[in-house]
Amino acid sequence: MHTETIKQVTEANVLHTYNRYPMVLESGQGVYLKDTDGKEYLDFASGIAVFALGYHFPGYDEALKAQIDQVIHTSNLYYNVPLAAASEKLIKASGMAKVFFTNSGAEAIEGAVKAARKYAYERDGHTDHEIIAMNNSFHGRTVGALSVTGNPHYQEAFKPLMGGVKFADFNDIASVKAAVTDKTCAILMETVQGEGGIHPADPAFLKEVRALCDEKDILLILDEIQCGMGRTGKMWAFEHYDVKPDILTSAKALGCGIPVGAFLLNEKTAARSLKPGDHGTTYGGNPLACAAVSVVQDLFAAHDIVAKAAEVAAYLAEKLDGLAKVHSCILEHRGLGLMRGLALENEVAVADVIAKAQAAGLLVISAGGNVLRLVPPLVITTEDVDKAVAILDKCLP
Ligand SMILES: *Cc1c(COP(=O)(O)O)cnc(C)c1O
Repeated sequence: MHTETIKQVTEANVLHTYNRYPMVLESGQGVYLKDTDGKEYLDFASGIAVFALGYHFPGYDEALKAQIDQVIHTSNLYYNVPLAAASEKLIKASGMAKVFFTNSGAEAIEGAVKAARKYAYERDGHTDHEIIAMNNSFHGRTVGALSVTGNPHYQEAFKPLMGGVKFADFNDIASVKAAVTDKTCAILMETVQGEGGIHPADPAFLKEVRALCDEKDILLILDEIQCGMGRTGKMWAFEHYDVKPDILTSAKALGCGIPVGAFLLNEKTAARSLKPGDHGTTYGGNPLACAAVSVVQDLFAAHDIVAKAAEVAAYLAEKLDGLAKVHSCILEHRGLGLMRGLALENEVAVADVIAKAQAAGLLVISAGGNVLRLVPPLVITTEDVDKAVAILDKCLP
């Protein structure tokens, strides 16, 4: 099919919930994507922070192909080989006690919410518990995940949403404390807010939330669907803070391209929450998805991906600081590791900068509040950074 035909057929048939960029991406290699017209793009979007290893990292495709030759799916009624391997590796990599695999980030949030409610139910014997979530957060589009997403624009048309949710201001401990009642069962936040515009948690804030949770037996749920899996230069963003969650969610880069998510529980939470019959999924953690999780963990370890990401991230941060100095339209440069945001003044539409960058062969995306978001593969080099920054330099007014 011709490029224009592909676009027309897609628009004619796929429900129009996305305003897509104009190119049709057809193949990827390393940190580059190619469209159907043969144009190449340096990819600083990674399929929204998914392709941590870039495209066709040696060993990745081979592991998936081998699993396809074995079996793709069996259901959770039986044991399978990749589930055992993936779970063992992810437990080790996270320091959590138990994992439940899902198909997406939103489903990981759904499971985390259910686990928190069940924990409080087991403890108190009643069901009217509350979850405190953060304003400006993003946790997914299913009704439960939307209910804890602090963005009125996403929620409005879909009310009434799940009850028992209160919102507090991120990085404002007084606001969180004001929302706590004796019904609070969990406090949920992204360690680094992604969609909301790349806002890392303040260290003091996260520590105080942890202390508050400890004091009142409230569960701390950290959503690391975007900021986990090495994105910030540590395997998990919470490792920057010397704070541990009771429940952790992961997805996006967890399978580096295969749709898979997970929620993980610490010992205390696992011992007193979801039991046989309380939760389930047909596909979740199927052999193909778990083969991806498993090989990604192996490749991360074998190639020291996270430490290398931290190194190149420092270089990228320095270059972006430089850009911010010469382009006055950049109000702020913020982020952690390879999760970076350039907040632009309102007169400069981030969409225009993105379009110019695309024309110049660079894929970048936006985040809430006129923010240019850079979430490149973790395997980028300093040369890739130089190239991307040079393009941005030309695209920014
Ligand atoms: C993307 C994202 C989600 C939702 O994940 P999906 O796989 O799109 O359902 C949840 N939380 C955060 C922090 C995310 O970035």
